Amino acid sequence: MDTTVKGVIARGKGAEVELVDVMVPDPGPNDVIVAVQACGVCHTDLAYRDGGISDDYPFLLGHEAAGVVETVGENVSHVAVGDFVVLNWRAVCGECRACKKGEPKYCFATFNASRKMTLTDGTELEPALGIGAFIEKTLIHEGQCTKVDPSADPAAVGLLGCGVMAGLGAAVNTGEIKRGESVAVIGCGGVGMAAVAGAKLAGATRIIAVDLSDEKLERAKDFGATHTINPSALGGDASATGEDQPVVQAVHEILGGVGADVVVDAVGLPGTFTQAFYMRDLAGRVVLVGVPTPEMRLELPLADVFGRGGATKSSWYGDCLPERDFPLYTDLYLQGRFPLGDFVDERISIDAVEDAFTKMKQGSVLRSVVEL
Ligand SMILES: [Zn+2]
Ligand SMILES: [Zn+2]
Repeated sequence: MDTTVKGVIARGKGAEVELVDVMVPDPGPNDVIVAVQACGVCHTDLAYRDGGISDDYPFLLGHEAAGVVETVGENVSHVAVGDFVVLNWRAVCGECRACKKGEPKYCFATFNASRKMTLTDGTELEPALGIGAFIEKTLIHEGQCTKVDPSADPAAVGLLGCGVMAGLGAAVNTGEIKRGESVAVIGCGGVGMAAVAGAKLAGATRIIAVDLSDEKLERAKDFGATHTINPSALGGDASATGEDQPVVQAVHEILGGVGADVVVDAVGLPGTFTQAFYMRDLAGRVVLVGVPTPEMRLELPLADVFGRGGATKSSWYGDCLPERDFPLYTDLYLQGRFPLGDFVDERISIDAVEDAFTKMKQGSVLRSVVEL
């Protein structure tokens, strides 16, 4: 029998989100119902609301969550009732061509629930990133649940489900930062800040945070930045697009005349990517984790792409494997070795998601987290 609970939906492009009754069906085979305890407010939720992802309204928002498994469907063996889990949107299939090549982080056939949650009139809801977690209880595939240490704060570990994992993984998994390397991170929102913390965890010795907000740069030092640059405070030629860009020169100055071994672009604009491209040392790595929009175009001298060597890489979901990474970073958090709790700036009720979007646009919080 369907269960009726409160959930946050986006009904149409740009319209304010609404807290409404949602019908959660009984779990199908391999499905589970999770009682959500906490869910972070991510930029992707706002992108769904604003039509930046697709036009399949109405959306059930929320996807950065932790909770407790409440009901299991047939054949569920991966988790049991009562397990404390972080939800993920990379439930790898094990069968697609990426999985068979031993690259499950690129899995092309990740699992979602077999049934749809609906409005009370039967309208099917499209869950954000296949999850939908601004809701008291959500229906997902068992593979979307990753068990972690139940003593952890749900508001903190839920953030591993998306934004923090994206930034941390961009540094550690995609950027493959090694002990002693130099790193620059452009953009110090939640994702960029997690990249800074990931660079510290990986043993980078010089970590340069770049942002237009002095306040964020000050905070970046708490997460591990050894140097900071605010490009708006630099003089020089603002029309430069190559190595002569003032922010690139500022990085060179800090690093004794060379670029950084790894640069993470956590903004995802053609301008920031061009900065990142020239900010890295010859043969260094550039990691793009900020999400561009479809109309953006990149222009770079092809001779520089060739001549500077190294690698430019994209990082989807921080190239994470939830089953490997979520328990690992939960443990490091509980041991005081990764500052997951410091990303939680405010704890809000489920009817305050729209306000949290406003604060997000102002850039005044790393994460607002809905507690249920
Ligand atoms: Zn697969
Ligand atoms: Zn997200």
